[in-house]
Amino acid sequence: MTKRPILIHPDPRLKKVSAPVPDLSDDLRRLADDMLETMYDAPGIGLAAPQVGVNTRLIVLDCVKAEGEAPRPLIMFNPEIIASSDERSVYEEGCLSIPEQYGEVERPAEVSVRWIDRNGHEQQEDFAGLWATCVQHEIDHLDGKLFIDYLKPLRRQLITRRMQKLKRERARV
Ligand SMILES: [Zn+2]
Repeated sequence: MTKRPILIHPDPRLKKVSAPVPDLSDDLRRLADDMLETMYDAPGIGLAAPQVGVNTRLIVLDCVKAEGEAPRPLIMFNPEIIASSDERSVYEEGCLSIPEQYGEVERPAEVSVRWIDRNGHEQQEDFAGLWATCVQHEIDHLDGKLFIDYLKPLRRQLITRRMQKLKRERARV
């Protein structure tokens, strides 16, 4: 497995709608494994393929945070939200493509998701709590949407300017 560089907002690849995966391949499985390694290393709880510059409908996540609890890495090709609860919840979200910036986002508290797993099998599961927020945040990435798009315009512009500055500083090193 290889760690891949994570794109930092603003980047046109983060704004694109990603293409569905027609057939699983070893290359795509390798990409998914690389993304998990990149996510754990960051560390983060979710990562979408566009964040490593690949505009394909693939996300990985693991929202197990409690110490001593076994990790639960999930790889989802073509994930789809097939139902959402009326009940909403608010989480302070962050993003590996927008380092050290956070904002409160309101989303459905529970979602039902269908996807294709690493072995090409269809899976379906209901998610609640942090898992529900995370899976919605990652699927948003596949539609070119970032959590800051839910914030007020001024706050979004402020964060974007900070990221532009961060990228300039990184480019200089
Ligand atoms: Zn993100």
